[in-house]
Amino acid sequence: MSIAYLNGEFLPLEQARISPLDRGFLFGDGIYEYIPSYDGKLVGFRLHIERLQRGLVELKIELPRSVDQWREVFEEVIARNGGGHQSLYLHISRGADNKREHGYPKGIEPTVFILATVIDPPQVADPALARTYKVSTKQDLRWGRCHIKSTALLGNIMHKQSSIEDGCDEALLYNELEEITEGASSNVVVVKDGKLATPMLDNQVLPGITRSVLLDILAKYTQRGIEQRVITLTEVRKADEVWMTSSSKDIVPVIELDGKQVGHGKPGPIWQEIMKLFAKHRFDY
Ligand code: PMP
Repeated sequence: MSIAYLNGEFLPLEQARISPLDRGFLFGDGIYEYIPSYDGKLVGFRLHIERLQRGLVELKIELPRSVDQWREVFEEVIARNGGGHQSLYLHISRGADNKREHGYPKGIEPTVFILATVIDPPQVADPALARTYKVSTKQDLRWGRCHIKSTALLGNIMHKQSSIEDGCDEALLYNELEEITEGASSNVVVVKDGKLATPMLDNQVLPGITRSVLLDILAKYTQRGIEQRVITLTEVRKADEVWMTSSSKDIVPVIELDGKQVGHGKPGPIWQEIMKLFAKHRFDY
């Protein structure tokens, strides 16, 4: 039985309860993080908590806890669940008031929940064994604050579901100018003639931790730069390689886009080169 953390307590998941007046339930008024741990070691922990802290400021939720205080709680959850490969899902909502009003109530305590789930081993840099994606493109119909890791994910899950119904694994989103934004739950990288590019960060894109670790690895360990710029839908259709990045899946090569092969329809050589580096350095972050 999985052990969860709820508002300062460690308890069997089945016993975890929150109020129906919780603003996370009523309004999606909260933020979250998803942090993988492999063999009990967290990946990108500081970066995740720093993004969380920026989100708390945006939402005006007061929860003063340092990275080290968070780390202690997370390590306890991992230990109580027996180590191994686990994802840690942290969900913070503004908390529960005694009435349902849209404006932020004063004097309520945030709800803090951590869920541990057993996950698969991390991505490997082997084209024969790697997780790959089939992707379908969709116009991005989410809101204008996608840089916040909001728990209000209806827009994202509707895009994801629509792709699943296309027989795909992920949706690749583009705005009204036909510029790529990101995936429904991932960031995107395109490779053409050996050159890497990814959409620059703005309100249309979540600043992914995997994306930022990848950028750092490229800068530190390779001569390959990566441009952060506008990428059009036309460009992505002509790319040699397309990758989607996320903490739950690492760097996933896209082998099919809207039913057409990307490159040779297999994980590409540059993905393999960079995935090797990523696998080597993921625990440095
Ligand atoms: N964009 C969106 C919309 C996402 O939901 C996610 C993953 N939650 C990402 C990008 C990737 O972010 P990260 O690398 O931090 O998991």
